[in-house]
Amino acid sequence: MSTAKKRKTVLDPWGTTIVEDYNRLYEEFGIQPFKSLLSEMPNPGMYMRRGVIFGHRDFELVLNSMKSREKFAVMSGIKPTGEFHLGTLMTAREIIYFQQQGATAFYCIADIEAYEDNKIPFEKSEKIAVGNVADLLALGFDPERGCIYRQYKEQRVRDLAVLFGRGVTLATMKAIYGERNIGLYLSALVQAGDILMPQLKDFDGPKPTVVPVGVDQDAHLRLTRDLASKFRRKFNFISPSSTYHKIMKGLDGSPKMAKRSPMSYFTLHEKPESIAKKISYAFTGGRPTVEEQRKLGGVPEICPVYEICMYHFVEDDDDIVRVYHDCKSGKLLCGEHKAQTTEIVLNFVREHQLKRRKFIDKAREILQVN
Ligand code: SF4
Repeated sequence: MSTAKKRKTVLDPWGTTIVEDYNRLYEEFGIQPFKSLLSEMPNPGMYMRRGVIFGHRDFELVLNSMKSREKFAVMSGIKPTGEFHLGTLMTAREIIYFQQQGATAFYCIADIEAYEDNKIPFEKSEKIAVGNVADLLALGFDPERGCIYRQYKEQRVRDLAVLFGRGVTLATMKAIYGERNIGLYLSALVQAGDILMPQLKDFDGPKPTVVPVGVDQDAHLRLTRDLASKFRRKFNFISPSSTYHKIMKGLDGSPKMAKRSPMSYFTLHEKPESIAKKISYAFTGGRPTVEEQRKLGGVPEICPVYEICMYHFVEDDDDIVRVYHDCKSGKLLCGEHKAQTTEIVLNFVREHQLKRRKFIDKAREILQVN
């Protein structure tokens, strides 16, 4: 057994987060395993059933509201830095899932964070946001039962951020986020405002609120939960709950899909030929030769092609279990599987693009953009 000391995982919302072992996060960060709540979920979503959502904080509060049909909210945000990709697709689907389970849904266009972290001017992020909102609507978000807003334009969020500035010291921000520029600390306070806005009187007051995010965003939840308790007397806030999904591997075999590596990911608006090419060049868990793969089987656990199917594109649980076993047994070969996956992905993307076009005007109307 190796005596090398394992490095503590770093969950950095603005940097590169690589998680070697999700089980370690329970101990290192106090995140709770989601698995133990699965049997109690009235109608568990695909990401929950498949362990893609692996952790939570205080999700029991939301679960109780779901079971007793009491009010609760879902809130999450996406930075308007570009077209939807598989990571943002996951967050959008999670918001929509909870909305369909009865939550009042809040979708935040995190344009202040995009400004501070990615240097995207507001005029540019506004244009990107129109497309992102059209994506969200095409995926099934119901704007009649939800709130879509831009941080930069939402006075209530900005007011909360200013107030929350009184509740934290620089030392606390450094302890949570490391040494960063003040703009990023400011955007973190704005996100605390996003997370707690659903509990203001304007939105029917305090209520359990779930924030579904990638686990790299946990720092924002820790900060906001702390602020919720500091400002409880004034607002009667209930500590926000969270669910955490895993971070997708890059198609090229890198630990994370990243914009700086175009072969590691694709967007929902890429040309079909480009998506097909990226899947065909993708890293796999296959063996060097067909003979070896027939004999030894593949390794779906490390395979990004399997991962995109399991996370997003194979909806039937029996089908994905079959893919897993066919890969392990050597019955399914990588070339054949890549061809099947390409067909499923392109069907989804083509249909989504058609739907999305129909929602562009609605998205402009919601964001009040000409
Ligand atoms: S058969 Fe499919 S799941 Fe298995 S290693 Fe090859 S591409 Fe991955």
